[in-house]
Amino acid sequence: MSRSTPEYILAALPTHQTASLPHTRPVRVTDTLSIGGSEVVIAAGPCSIEGFDMLLASARHVKAAGASLLRGGAFKPRTSPYAFQGLGDEGLVIMAEVRDRTGIPIVTEVLDTRQVDRVAQIADVMQVGARNMQNFALLAELGRCGKPVLLKRGASARVAELLLAAEHIMANGNDRVILCERGIRTFETGTRYTLDISAIAVLKHETHLPVLVDPSHAGGRSDLVMPLSLAAIAAGADGLIIEVHPNPPAALSDADQQLTFEQFTDVMIQSARVALACDRTIKLPELNIRTSAETTELSPPFDLRRPARDKVAVA
Ligand code: PEP
Ligand code: MN
Repeated sequence: MSRSTPEYILAALPTHQTASLPHTRPVRVTDTLSIGGSEVVIAAGPCSIEGFDMLLASARHVKAAGASLLRGGAFKPRTSPYAFQGLGDEGLVIMAEVRDRTGIPIVTEVLDTRQVDRVAQIADVMQVGARNMQNFALLAELGRCGKPVLLKRGASARVAELLLAAEHIMANGNDRVILCERGIRTFETGTRYTLDISAIAVLKHETHLPVLVDPSHAGGRSDLVMPLSLAAIAAGADGLIIEVHPNPPAALSDADQQLTFEQFTDVMIQSARVALACDRTIKLPELNIRTSAETTELSPPFDLRRPARDKVAVA
């Protein structure tokens, strides 16, 4: 990739900017939420929407632990046609009801051009999955959808190809694009994919678009979500998208990588510490939140500089 002859124009950094200056342009999601500013934004929720009760419980917990967006798939891109394909339109209705009850905005995947209008009526952020990163008809349609788009990197896509995919959305009229590094395919089999930490830094040199990281699909293992989340924030990610489920072993998709509510709370607390060390913030709420080690009363202002073992117990 050469800065002098970029193949992408709208997604590129203005030529007078250098990577040493803060240059990410925040993307507005709602009147009170933007991605790409000093706050590290967390999206969390189940892989798939499996029903109303589980989504409501998930929304309440992730919001209470500090997440700003609820994730959940109604339309699921599954490698096997025999695997659970999601609740479809029923899932969208459930999501809208959960958003009404909890006030947390929602990010959900759109698989197909025929779904764009329906999903855009409900979603606050439209997700393009890794498998669809180069579905150019879908990207063009999302350019006209009027909602921000979370564009996930294809498992075999180069950074330049991710940026050109973003360019397709932007060239069709939508500059509210958020990129997502979610792991790429390598020779390694110890993890589901390989989280490309370098890509976060490279993207910061190449584009003004915010960058989220998905540690759940990258590692494919719940025990890797904490270290990958912390590494992503340290490398400059503008946020994380994390899978959380009320009962991970019983999940209808991606059971191995989903966090329990308690594990998610731990990730939030540790992430807030790393964010602080990087001159960023993660807003932890004014609630009693439960870590896996104990129930801890936290009241603001949080003194995140204190050692972890002091007030906040971390597993
Ligand atoms: C997802 O986030 O639900 C998903 C399917 O992820 P990816 O497209 O990155 O595989
Ligand atoms: Mn998943």
